[in-house]
Amino acid sequence: MMSSVFLRRFFSRTLNGPWNFIAGERCSPVDSSGTMKVTEPATGQLLCDIPISGPNEIDRAVSSAKAAFKDWSNFSPRERGNHLTRAAEIIKNNLEDIASLEVKDTGKAIWEARIDVSSCADAFEYYGGIAPTLVGQHIPLPNGSFAYVTREPYGVVAGIGAWNFPIQTCVWKAAPALASGNTFVYKPSQFTPVNAVVLGEILDSAGVLKGAYNVVQGEGDSGSMLCDHPDVGKLSFTGSVSTGTKVMNAGAKGIKAVTLELGGKSPLVIFEDADIVNSVKGALMANFLSQGQVCSNGTRVFVHKKILKPFTELLLKQTKKLKIGDPFQEDVTVGATIHEAHARKVLQYIEEAKKEGAKVLYGGERIQMSGKFSEGWYLSPCILTNVNHTMKVVEEEVFGSVLCLLEFESEEEAIQLANQTRFGLAGAVFTKDIQRAHRVSKQIEAGSVWINTYNLYPTEVPFGGYKMSGIGRENGTWSLDNFTQTKTVYVEMGDVDCGPLYSED
Ligand code: NDP
Repeated sequence: MMSSVFLRRFFSRTLNGPWNFIAGERCSPVDSSGTMKVTEPATGQLLCDIPISGPNEIDRAVSSAKAAFKDWSNFSPRERGNHLTRAAEIIKNNLEDIASLEVKDTGKAIWEARIDVSSCADAFEYYGGIAPTLVGQHIPLPNGSFAYVTREPYGVVAGIGAWNFPIQTCVWKAAPALASGNTFVYKPSQFTPVNAVVLGEILDSAGVLKGAYNVVQGEGDSGSMLCDHPDVGKLSFTGSVSTGTKVMNAGAKGIKAVTLELGGKSPLVIFEDADIVNSVKGALMANFLSQGQVCSNGTRVFVHKKILKPFTELLLKQTKKLKIGDPFQEDVTVGATIHEAHARKVLQYIEEAKKEGAKVLYGGERIQMSGKFSEGWYLSPCILTNVNHTMKVVEEEVFGSVLCLLEFESEEEAIQLANQTRFGLAGAVFTKDIQRAHRVSKQIEAGSVWINTYNLYPTEVPFGGYKMSGIGRENGTWSLDNFTQTKTVYVEMGDVDCGPLYSED
């Protein structure tokens, strides 16, 4: 196994490139349509300058994956699983270095980056372990005949990811795809290119077949070229609804299987009997992790009228205590927004909401840092009151720390309001009433519902959206379903019976 010292040397030269990872090696593209300047969100300074992969480079990555597929898919699942388990060990042994790169890439606080990276080790360990459980079925038929059904990989899987959880998004796709015998080509977001390449080195040192995992860097066009490539058999996408629609169209053109993890505007419903402290903790977790740039965030917080006052007081007190600043500092809870344009978009939502009558209870402003952080975009977490479903800030995904506080009086009203959205990624219920908890969970139209907590995603639990939040599921055994197709083999044990089609005379 690669020693930590070796990896440390590797990490120190990571930001010098080259930036693609093909056939087990870091490499520069054979063709490129220019470069992308990637900035470090915390400082606003240039982090790296990366060549944008052109069509020949995309083809080279897919060809590498296609060539590796022959052998990788023929390894026994246990063999494949062993390599992935080794990758989990390497990640655990180098967690701090990988988390530091994630902070540089995203601007999120180091304590959060550690959790993200640790969840990647969990995913490799889990899929490494369950790879051998990928079994088929035997179906008895008349006269001793039978059919057996095997689960086979698609071939080359294209993964495309967003910028908010870059390493986790990549691993949630790569681990189950590789476990089930596919090979993989990943295109990270142009804003967060770093750790996908690091993963290449890790998987290589874990013994994963060269060419099974590849990375191509680029902007939108690189992603669409990858989706359109005729040798790609499956598309797995995480990002916005508008890009997801394009990916689905690419899938439709090529009749390719598509998994989409898209946006959300999830409800968090807090009943009058809920524990106030836990409810506030839930609301903080549902809104202020990763600068609010979390797809499953419960940004519509519905609080029962009876407890609105004490809930709001405690929420405000706790939000004021969040420390904004240098994401590498251990006591900082809130880091930098991904980039200026996104920060401005978040602020614009707040401005428009104010014009429509919303009240800013707290935050919603740029905090101007000094020194080397002065070019970073740091926003104070925002709580809005006096909001309703006619406002854009309540209807649309802001993808920033903007909590909309709404009240309700009856269970029916809460459910109706919770479902008043075109999204359906997640939701939560806080109550001590066990029957109500399950009754309401059942009626929330979403792929995940938490009871008395928020935003937890253990790798063994499926995750994905209803309605416009997506198609398919990641994590758990469900992800293996999404990365395999079934083959039916019918075995005739007698003579062929074709009726009058065949006669002896
Ligand atoms: P985008 O949809 O803008 O981009 C996602 C990825 O798609 C990027 O790598 C992007 O490349 C690429 N891309 C752009 N155009 C195309 C195309 N035509 N074909 C193929 N790929 C393309 O999303 P963001 O990166 O802005 O991420 C934010 C969104 O992601 C939010 O809506 C959020 O809710 C959602 N999300 C959903 C999650 C889930 O699990 N449900 C988790 C995390 C985020 P590039 O940007 O480099 O051009």
